[in-house]
Order: sequence, then C-alpha cells, then structure tokens
Amino acid sequence: HTPGSTAVGRVMRGDAKAYDVLLDQAIVRAAPRGKLFEELGDVKNPVAVGDLVRVSLEGDPLGIEEVLPRENSLSKVSSSHDPRRQVLFANVDQVILVSSLGKPGFSSNRTDRILAACRLEEIPAVLLLNKIDLDPGGEAEAIRETYTGAGYPVLETSAEQGIGLEELRDLLHGKVSVLYGASGVGKSTLLNALYGLQLKVGKISRYWSSGKHTTTFSRWIPIDVEGEREAGTVVVDTPGIRVFRLWGVNRRQLRHLYPDFEPYNTKCHFPNCSHDHEPGCAVDAAVESGKISATRYLSYVEILDELDPPPEDIETVL
Ligand code: GDP
Ligand code: ZN
Repeated sequence: HTPGSTAVGRVMRGDAKAYDVLLDQAIVRAAPRGKLFEELGDVKNPVAVGDLVRVSLEGDPLGIEEVLPRENSLSKVSSSHDPRRQVLFANVDQVILVSSLGKPGFSSNRTDRILAACRLEEIPAVLLLNKIDLDPGGEAEAIRETYTGAGYPVLETSAEQGIGLEELRDLLHGKVSVLYGASGVGKSTLLNALYGLQLKVGKISRYWSSGKHTTTFSRWIPIDVEGEREAGTVVVDTPGIRVFRLWGVNRRQLRHLYPDFEPYNTKCHFPNCSHDHEPGCAVDAAVESGKISATRYLSYVEILDELDPPPEDIETVL
C-alpha cells in the first residue's frame, strides 16, 4: 500500500491498549488516534466492538482514524462514580437476552432494564431462557407469559439436553446477534452446542485462544459454518453483565420503553402521569386487572426511582 492509505475494517474486540480489527480477512491491531478522544463528552470509549473503522495502514499498532456512523449501539452508564456512557457494541441486528433457570436465577429487574435500553436504541430483542431442564420453582411458564404478553419473543432452551437449539440456530442465521446475559447462564455452552462441531477449527478457534483473554470486552465472532465465512452469521459474545444502568433516559421517557404500557400511556387522568401512584392511572388499573404483568410494573417503578427528572421539571423545581 502507498503511504497515507487507509482501509475500513470491523472492530472485533479490544483490550486496554488496542483493538483487533478484521481487515480483508486478516486481524490487525489498531489503536484510536488522539483526535478520536478529543470530543468524547459523555462517552467513555471512542471505539466499540462492531464498529466499522477507518484505519491508517502505518505504525504498530495501526491507527484508527475514524469511526463510521453507527446503525445502532447499546450503551450503559459505566458506573455510579462515572456517569459517562460505555458503548457495549455497535451495528447489530438483534440482542438475545440470555437468562437461566436454576442458577443464576431470573432477574426481571435486570431483564427489563436491558429490554428498555434495546427499545431506546430500536434494536430488536429476544428473551432466551436457558437451563429449561432445571426449573425447580416452575418459573418458566410465568416468565414466558409475562414477556410474550409484553410483545417480546421468548425462546426456551437447554444447552445440556439439546432443547430449542434448532430454533436458536434459525434465529441467529444470517444475522448479527448479541448474546447478552449474566455470567453463568450458559452462553458459551449454547454456542459450543450450536457451532462447535461445524466450526472450521481454523480462524475462529485459533482466534479465541490467541493472545491475552479479556473478560471485560465483547467479541465479534463470525460463525464459519461449513466454510461459508461470508454467510453473514455473527455472534457477539459479551462479558457477563454485572450492573446495567440506563443511559440517556429520563423519568418521562421510561414509559415509552415499555411496549406493554403503550396502550395505556395516554389514558391516565393526568396527561403527564408517571404511573407511579398517581390517582386515575390507567397503567395501574391494567396491572390490577392483569393486562400488564405485576413484575414488569414493579421493575418500572424501581428503574424510575433511579432516573433523573426531565430538564423542564428541574426548571420548575428551581
Ligand atoms: P456463560 O458464562 O454464560 O458462558 O455460561 P457457561 O456456558 O460457562 O455455563 C455455565 C454453567 O452452566 C456450566 O457449568 C454449564 O455446564 C451449565 N449449563 C449451561 N447450559 C445449561 C443447561 O441448559 N442446563 C444445565 N443444567 N446446565 C447448563
Ligand atoms: Zn398513569
């Protein structure tokens, strides 16, 4: 290549120092140039897994000059001490939110936060309940009813017993899917059960075992099924979620991130009803009559408590 030339590649994973970028079937190391850090504002990391980046082909590591506009991305607040957002991944077709029965158990609060974040970003989300072979409390049915009732597809699997794997394979086929869930829910077991035997041992498995392993970054994994590398199936493996705090949502917006609330949002006595104990609340009535799930409502009120009021409300208080 000529000096000064650049090329566009896909960010596959990163560590504290640099990113692995897929460039013309090769994986290269590249680090963001200073100018990418200049106007970060509320963002912690300039580059995320899944980004298409323009890389200058000089230096070691090479330089990431530009992040091309994202189709979508999912962010969370990185910590309560650091209110900037952390971009978890970008440019995906869907999020498969993986939970398990048994251990770790199902958390409606965590599930609903992430579903709300996906809705904010307009990323389709599917709920996957793994370890369906363990269902000591018989929870699966209630969870399925709650979320199908809220408009989300629910898939039940057992990686151990091979249940639901074909449906999962169909769901992932030809798409970029994030497997997102707490550590221990069975994400790796599911991926191995699905693709382990057909994986071309070549690139991916060598790639997985190369270098320093980092558990704090997502990984972009092209699935090389039967040699069809360009078949388009990509799985984004994420580190286990510990804390997920919503970024960029205020108290007035949260109600629109619950699709099951949508039919009732405009029917309350007070037009600006937050659905938090106001009289004449249509959402509250829908919970009472069983049209909205009580656990969804509970998580809504809990999440609401952590969010800032919208700017107008701050002004009236001042
Ligand atoms: P990850 O952290 O989400 O990648 O979870 P792993 O794939 O490492 O799985 C965590 C544990 O759950 C392992 O001991 C697996 O054997 C177990 N596990 C995974 N899937 C199932 C399942 O469907 N049923 C049962 N009973 N155990 C499972
Ligand atoms: Zn209301």
